[in-house]
Amino acid sequence: MENQLFARKLIEWYQINKRNLPWRHTTDPYQIWLSEIILQQTRVVQGLPYYQAFTQKFPQVSNLAQAEEQEVLRTWQGLGYYSRARNLHKCAKIICHQYGGQFPDNYAELIKLPGIGPYTAAAIASFAFKEPKAVVDGNVYRVLSRFFGLQEDIASNSGQKAFAKLAQTLINHEHPDLYNQGIMEFGALHCTPKSPACNNCMFIDNCVAFDQKLQNVLPIKSKKVKVRLRHFYYINVVQNDLLLMKKRVGNGIWEGLYDFYLHESSDPLDHQNITSEIDFLRSLGAKTKRIDLSKEYVHILSHQKIKARFITVYIQGVSADIMVEERLKFYPLDEVHDLPKPVLISHYLNDTFF
Ligand code: SF4
Repeated sequence: MENQLFARKLIEWYQINKRNLPWRHTTDPYQIWLSEIILQQTRVVQGLPYYQAFTQKFPQVSNLAQAEEQEVLRTWQGLGYYSRARNLHKCAKIICHQYGGQFPDNYAELIKLPGIGPYTAAAIASFAFKEPKAVVDGNVYRVLSRFFGLQEDIASNSGQKAFAKLAQTLINHEHPDLYNQGIMEFGALHCTPKSPACNNCMFIDNCVAFDQKLQNVLPIKSKKVKVRLRHFYYINVVQNDLLLMKKRVGNGIWEGLYDFYLHESSDPLDHQNITSEIDFLRSLGAKTKRIDLSKEYVHILSHQKIKARFITVYIQGVSADIMVEERLKFYPLDEVHDLPKPVLISHYLNDTFF
């Protein structure tokens, strides 16, 4: 289907099916901005009373700018994400002090304001000033990915760029406001996440997702795994070609494998605080002949990134008490070679001893 036909159909659909919402009866950028900030991460039914409260209490941007922060936060109470309310207040003050109480009339200026990102800037620019700037929100990702069969990951930067580029080629230059509202409303009411009304859809003959039964697959959004960064300091005590090692127990990573005495730190340690902070190292005291600090080894696991350094301590004798307490045992080098070990330990041993 030709792009402009796609856009025209959405506009026609919107004019017949749109919900009657107060911010759709205005081109006042202040009211549009209020509605967009309130509706971020908030459903329409939940946001509606807040929109009414804000427009009644603060009918002009100057009223909001002059209000006490406590008053703004009280009006916002219950909506959560309070940084949005603080940014709302901050932005109102900037509009009054730097822009003479008038909202900037274009995307490039709007996006410089606090709390206004690409989506909100495009929404205000197109709804209030008819700038042909396409909005891209969750609804737009869904409609475009399904209709065009776009399989880019919407959680990735490259995916987001691909969708933004496609959305911009589709926008209707005569009615950018109606097109933007239309595609979002179509996603919210018709091409919904769980049960799109395909059998009753004007796009059924051209929709890739319908044709290939991909409605439940698109849009593709990978789950971002939060990676935990850990700093490991291993102390390898060496005495006459014997290395002090232990078997890992418990349910943590590498259970049953062999490694050295381990000190974990929440922050990276430098040469000086390695010796002052690690008690075990200090307990070796006078028996220490030499200490070598290795380079940093980086090891990536599915949910963790480990940055490890090895402190090789050459000694003349170590107290049996320490060894018992820390479950450590001396192993000759050839035995160490055959012990099951995490790859990280093997890399260090290969670099240093084998
Ligand atoms: S046919 Fe189904 S999946 Fe395709 S646009 Fe219509 S509702 Fe969405």
